Amino acid sequence: MTDDKDVWVFSEKPALQAELIAGAHQLSANTGGQVAAVVLGARSQAEQAFDLGAQRVLWLGELPSGRLVEDIVPTLVAAVQDKCPFGVIIGATVRGRAVAGRLAARLGVAALADVLEFQWDGSALLARHMVFGGGAVRIDRPLASPVIATIGQGIFETGSLQAQPKGEIEPLPWVEPPWQAAVIERRSRAVSSVNLSAAKRVVCPGRGVARQEDLGLIEELAQALSAEMACTRPLAEGLGWLPRERYIGISGAMIKPDLYLGVGVSGQAQHTIGMSESRVVVAINKDRGAPLMTQSDYAVEGDLYQVVPALIRALKARKAK
Ligand SMILES: Cc1cc2nc3c(=O)[nH]c(=O)nc-3n(C[C@H](O)[C@H](O)[C@H](O)COP(=O)(O)OP(=O)(O)OC[C@H]3O[C@@H](n4cnc5c(N)ncnc54)[C@H](O)[C@@H]3O)c2cc1C
Repeated sequence: MTDDKDVWVFSEKPALQAELIAGAHQLSANTGGQVAAVVLGARSQAEQAFDLGAQRVLWLGELPSGRLVEDIVPTLVAAVQDKCPFGVIIGATVRGRAVAGRLAARLGVAALADVLEFQWDGSALLARHMVFGGGAVRIDRPLASPVIATIGQGIFETGSLQAQPKGEIEPLPWVEPPWQAAVIERRSRAVSSVNLSAAKRVVCPGRGVARQEDLGLIEELAQALSAEMACTRPLAEGLGWLPRERYIGISGAMIKPDLYLGVGVSGQAQHTIGMSESRVVVAINKDRGAPLMTQSDYAVEGDLYQVVPALIRALKARKAK
């Protein structure tokens, strides 16, 4: 029996898996198939996938010791060739991208990277997805099957997901990868537990902030607004002032808050793709021509070192009333 109408989802991150399940339901509503979660981890995680809204669960088991997540690819290839799903949606993490690329290459199909939306043109699927590092959005019609797509965090909302009745967990027999790379050591790094996608208000400093110690000022503004603090990528990856989990954009978090306040953020496409669906966008920048200034609902032209303290004072005064 084949699953040619089913949509499979995989992410090694359980929180992202739930969002992918939500996206897959949009697809399967049109294909007439079921949503199957491909789970890597303990059996309890596989069982939990039904609670997250999966109608079927394909279980890879736990990753054998010394293996990388992308080592599941030969197992996935065998399963896809055997069951022929309509599509496989993979979370756009570093590891997920590696899985998607390898899976697509081995199956001889294209991988649609960073999908933002699936649409249907009659019976044909159209995928709106980011290209050129988020510099442009392209609509592709996949011609081959299965459809392999990566989707980032914050694209699909999980609110409408309903737990499904617990069914049989279908094990996928492990296929040993032919390549000879093994993990010899793992070192953990401190990870902040911030969930930017869930934040209603976000204050985002950019490189306009001159020194790391000045982030205290931005933090104070975030507190005055009861907002979560985010940042642009250079602050997290180049300067290392804030954890990587806090940067917004194509390679970071995708957010849709009620309020996004960019402070000293130029607004390059790789960043704005991650916040362009915010309900209200406010920018503080000394350059009125900065892209974010022209794209914002409220643009404050000025030096952040003068504007931010004034804003904090005003917010505190309002709260004190
Ligand atoms: C493949 C790829 C992926 C990328 N992914 C991401 C991503 O996911 N997220 C991301 O954020 N970036 C990403 N980038 C980087 C992105 O292209 C930009 O370089 C980055 O977003 C710029 O960050 P910024 O706005 O903080 O800095 P800048 O572009 O340097 O802007 C700083 C702004 O601060 C203003 N400013 C300076 N001083 C003051 C002051 N005193 N008061 C007020 N304003 C001031 C300046 O006028 C300027 O507009 C990616 C790049 C590539 C190539």
